[in-house]
Amino acid sequence: INRIGIFTSGGDAPGMNAAIRAAVRTALYNGKKVTGIYHGYQGMIENTMFEMNSRSVSSIIQKGGTILKTARCMEFRTPEGRKTAYENLVNAGVDALVAIGGDGTFTGAEVFSKEYDIPVMCIPGTIDNDLNGTDLTIGYDTANNTVIDAIDKIRDTAASHNRLFFIEVMGRDSGCIALNAGVAGGAEAILLPEKETAIDELIDMLEHAADRNKSSMIVIVAEGDKNGGAKDVARRVNEKFDYYDTKVSILGHLQRGGAPSSADRVLATRMGYAAVNELLKGNTRATIGIRGSEIVTTPLEEALSKKELKLNEDLVEIAKIMAL
Ligand code: ATP
Repeated sequence: INRIGIFTSGGDAPGMNAAIRAAVRTALYNGKKVTGIYHGYQGMIENTMFEMNSRSVSSIIQKGGTILKTARCMEFRTPEGRKTAYENLVNAGVDALVAIGGDGTFTGAEVFSKEYDIPVMCIPGTIDNDLNGTDLTIGYDTANNTVIDAIDKIRDTAASHNRLFFIEVMGRDSGCIALNAGVAGGAEAILLPEKETAIDELIDMLEHAADRNKSSMIVIVAEGDKNGGAKDVARRVNEKFDYYDTKVSILGHLQRGGAPSSADRVLATRMGYAAVNELLKGNTRATIGIRGSEIVTTPLEEALSKKELKLNEDLVEIAKIMAL
């Protein structure tokens, strides 16, 4: 390996920059050249690549988003698109890749690497924490902190007015943010995509809380909850339960932004470092992950084929008891 191409793809997540920085500096330390690729797979096809040096990644560890930009690219799903991408990489002298992103990014990396026999190492970057082969993804801790901060602020106003708030947080398939931020923010109820909670059951919980003279109530709704979003849930609850003044707050994309937390910066740095070292050792078509405190690798084929349940079942039970 002489030159490593690095890119971010799919949804952005805080900490991606720290991973880019670590991968670039580890490659340079080992005497390798680095090419930055803008806009993920789109940039390979459109040939928006540039030489990276140590200074290209100065002062980015603390920044949210990704300096390499990101994109979703339909053309890369076609053999013709991937052929153009490969030709551009060959012309630029890129002979290995570090891909930072989610499931789709990993799938693209696996398909491409098999088709053209180019070494590739993936790094899990998504706030959703919904990837296999790792306990944690880059961006998840920061997103949790952002959501907790929002819940705390909403709690202040909810408690002053005796209000019931429904707060919608990100997570189409994964309730990780909802559960963790819900527990940390002291939510009265948490609705998760992985667990069905009937509206009547939720109303029971809220009635019990009201009986215990709670001055405010917060229900966290993951966007992928089967009852619909927070607006639908609030409307259906209100049809039968009107004890409190009800408000809905959809946190939306602010959950994706912001300076990465200390934990995400360190995780991303360890993962970026490991990705390059694994490539240099001859490992390929795998994802970097963390298990406990150990950095590990998992073949992409395995990471993409099984579905790990990331939700902590104990925490689901604890959350209910804490809402007493
Ligand atoms: P997030 O978790 O935030 O959605 P992601 O990496 O899963 O991130 P996707 O849009 O699903 O985001 O995937 C990123 C890109 O990977 C796609 O836009 C596409 O270019 C490429 N990709 C996904 N699946 C394939 C595939 N089967 N073949 C080739 N390329 C693919």
